[in-house]
Amino acid sequence: MKLSWYRVSLQTRMPFVISRWGYPGHENVIVSITDDGVTGMGEAAPNRYYRESPESVIAALEVYQPLIEKAQYWSLEAIDLMLTGALAGNASARAAVSSALHDLFARKLSVPLYRMWGLSPECTPLTSFTIAIDDVEGLKRRVADAAEYPVLKIKLGTDRDDEIVRTVREAAPDKTLRVDANAAWTPVEAVERAAMLRDNAVESLEQPVAASDVEGMRFVRERCGMPVIADESCLVSRDIPRLAGSCDAVNIKLAKCGSLREAIRMIHTARAHDMKVMAGCMIETSLGISAIAQLAPLLDAADLDGAALLADDPFTGVTIHGGRVALQDAPGLGVTRRPPA
Ligand SMILES: [Mg+2]
Repeated sequence: MKLSWYRVSLQTRMPFVISRWGYPGHENVIVSITDDGVTGMGEAAPNRYYRESPESVIAALEVYQPLIEKAQYWSLEAIDLMLTGALAGNASARAAVSSALHDLFARKLSVPLYRMWGLSPECTPLTSFTIAIDDVEGLKRRVADAAEYPVLKIKLGTDRDDEIVRTVREAAPDKTLRVDANAAWTPVEAVERAAMLRDNAVESLEQPVAASDVEGMRFVRERCGMPVIADESCLVSRDIPRLAGSCDAVNIKLAKCGSLREAIRMIHTARAHDMKVMAGCMIETSLGISAIAQLAPLLDAADLDGAALLADDPFTGVTIHGGRVALQDAPGLGVTRRPPA
């Protein structure tokens, strides 16, 4: 097999600001793996919070390259183990390789990846659309921009969280609202804000407290009166048993867990602990979204708006219709490169 990559610059249509950062430009790395004339693709969406960058992704790919060249495309489990053993961390780089290998394997069989896994494309969940931090007028514009989506996920963790939630609720009186504090609150602050969230009929609360504060999350869950979802606290399946009782659901992302196979393990581990499962994304193109979306029939909820937030998506793949994830009836991840405008 031959492994190659290139960097891709992405701009969001509107600035994407959350509690710990905000910047207009994002840079991801697109990975291709070719075997006997068939090519699979994957995307690395490195995140500074997890100490990754386009440079760290490429450094990891340089380590993986000779290993992939010697491997068989169908040996997905063995390759996962080999890459984890070769280098600690680097989840987004490994996820790109994993996605490309799964794409390649399913393309060789001429079936969509979800079908290779025995999943039915009719059973996909609704996906939320993210309302990033903004001023009042900006929030209204974002809600109008999300007209197609019945579920909105509001980013919080500012000194004006009340105003943000009230503004979105007034602009979207009938939509399902979820909030994501991105680890910005103390447990006591989270419980204090929960009353305001309940007054605005918020459905669920994602990552209210610091990633390592599992007991704080339990404290919030017992007092906030709504389901709590772990995101930054839950990177891989090993994290799930210790979160049992502290949250109601986990948010799976390829850029955190490092492979499609680990994402599947997370789904089963969460179910075994009686938790619900959602999957999310970083700012990424339809290539990255189409990889995680292959698991959509196994999810309770999705937050797969990463490509919908982009000004210019270089790929076509999974789409969103009426807020629902729509899987393609096409081989592999069902992704094609968009011709340059
Ligand atoms: Mg989150």
